[in-house]
Amino acid sequence: MATEVVMPQMGESIAEGTITKWLVEVGDQVERDQPLFEISTDKVDAEIPSPAAGVLLEIRHKAGDTVQVQNVVALIGAEGEKAGEAPPAPAPVDEGERPEKAAKAEKPAAEPEPKEEKKEKVPAAPPAPKATPVAKPAQPEGEFDYDLVIIGSGPGGYVGGIRAGQLGLKVACVERDERFGGTCTLRGCIPTKALLHSAEVLDEARHAGDFGVGLGEPTLDIEKVHAYKRGVVDKSVKGIEFLFKKNKVEGIKGHGRLAGPNAVEVTAADGSTRKLTARFVMIATGSVPREIPVAKCDGERIVNSDHVLEMARVPKSIVVLGAGAVGAEFASVYRSFGSEVTLVEMLPRVLPIEDEEISKEVERQLKKRGIKVMTGTTLKSAERAGDGVKVTLQQKNMEATLEAELLLVAVGRAPVTEDVGLDTIGVETEKGYVPVNGTMQTRTPNVYAIGDVVNTPWLAHIASAEAILAVEHMAGLDVTPLDYDQTPSCTYCDPEVGSVGLSEAKAKERGYDVVTGKFQFSASGKARIVGKPSGFVKIVRDKKYDEVLGVHIVGPHATDLIAEACVALRLEATAEELFRTIHAHPTLAEAVMEAAHASHGSPIHS
Ligand code: FAD
Repeated sequence: MATEVVMPQMGESIAEGTITKWLVEVGDQVERDQPLFEISTDKVDAEIPSPAAGVLLEIRHKAGDTVQVQNVVALIGAEGEKAGEAPPAPAPVDEGERPEKAAKAEKPAAEPEPKEEKKEKVPAAPPAPKATPVAKPAQPEGEFDYDLVIIGSGPGGYVGGIRAGQLGLKVACVERDERFGGTCTLRGCIPTKALLHSAEVLDEARHAGDFGVGLGEPTLDIEKVHAYKRGVVDKSVKGIEFLFKKNKVEGIKGHGRLAGPNAVEVTAADGSTRKLTARFVMIATGSVPREIPVAKCDGERIVNSDHVLEMARVPKSIVVLGAGAVGAEFASVYRSFGSEVTLVEMLPRVLPIEDEEISKEVERQLKKRGIKVMTGTTLKSAERAGDGVKVTLQQKNMEATLEAELLLVAVGRAPVTEDVGLDTIGVETEKGYVPVNGTMQTRTPNVYAIGDVVNTPWLAHIASAEAILAVEHMAGLDVTPLDYDQTPSCTYCDPEVGSVGLSEAKAKERGYDVVTGKFQFSASGKARIVGKPSGFVKIVRDKKYDEVLGVHIVGPHATDLIAEACVALRLEATAEELFRTIHAHPTLAEAVMEAAHASHGSPIHS
């Protein structure tokens, strides 16, 4: 039966697209993912790839036609096959029938800024994976033990399992670790945030006198800090086990390996094996700390994040290599615990993926806390020296040698694709990752991959969102590929950072006419009350439509405050809608409202 090529949903509020050019003709042989035609919508110009390989049997809409989302544009099938089984083509959309949400974007902004009508040329959708038309899921035929087998139980795998259970799928989740939960629960988000909380309590206690509370000089019991951290992790693992039971997810311990598109072979710790057959398989094997040849981890003096989380001691001095989220968080923890900390970053600034002004403010505040920050610096060598480690660094043409008790290598993560059986389904990795389409399907359509093993940001909430998308797609629900521009990114160091959407530089790169607004926490009553009047909220908005493109926060509770901005981006809110939303007083969230005001040149409190 012919495959329908439909007008894809290029964004939540985009209801139609105009075909501007056909790139193939009826009768042409096309490959899967080969661009078929170009479209133009309110917000996006894009090439639409083919959902299948075959012959282009029929073109139902010529260049110039405006077609509603999900309506059939063309048919692809086998050579000689007759088109005709698909539903008839709907009439092109009348210009007057635009849905309310799309029309909203055309309303003048609060501060009308007349300018020439210029179409924004922005990337088609999430940078990776690229936007593809949402095809129906594959429906493998036959008898299977399960509807879905998931390999890996991190925040991708276990959340996917729960969602599958909720949707009535018979699901198993295979995990090779002794416990469920993956990096996030056992060696990532949860234990690091527990350590950061201990650090925060210690810092608060140090400053209790400022608020009239006498506590004396606080002390740190590192054994108890780790016991508290373990307690939080244990409860989270139990929570996952409870949720598996509640949602009828069968947790299976062992190493999972694909054995073809519909089978997973599980090898238990005792060496015994069993084969599980499944209609769908989801690879959720995650990632591990990336190793670098110049600083091979020995687990004692040269360590990675897995090692350091198990170290119940406070090093006198520590060099942290890598000033991304993981490096910045550990640098922050150990500084609070009393270590001499040097934070080394190869790129010109700390938290290099954040907006430049945020990076600058974080660096300023880390330095103020006594952390030595070395940006634009590479590691030449690291070797054990006595009870510590000797580290040679290069900054421009200068070499420096440092001695420290510990070197923490925090230079990123490597996807886990070894011994997963990708060869049995003919899938090859790209840059180490499993390639997927917008609905998280690999080239073998009933095998999905999500989370750190695919080339999207290494974040737990992204792994979970991708898993839910994949499972809902398998279940035949209507889904929309994720918009990675709307996924928040948080760093829980002191100062905290929370951001979502485009940085000022990225927005300019995408061709937006950018306006920014900034509000300093020093002007926030609540920030002064809690004794944290540093940092700011920065809003990046589009001048033409006033749409909020990005929100960047550095300062107290930035990681919680960013949630409001996520909703704003999701709803394609304008800066005016943000500042006309009444915020409770006194709250830190008022700073978001004030930054929106500032982007219109009218902040109330600064
Ligand atoms: P993982 O969580 O890595 O889970 C994969 C699971 O698959 C593992 O349990 C593994 O044992 C299992 N597995 C692998 N291969 C097999 C196999 N063949 N058979 C069976 N099981 C297998 N992200 C945030 O969003 N917020 C944070 O605050 C945050 N903090 C972090 C702090 C640190 C120190 C680190 C290292 C990471 C942090 N992250 C954070 C990132 C986050 O932990 C990951 O993005 C997330 O865990 C990825 O989820 P996942 O399900 O893809 O994979």
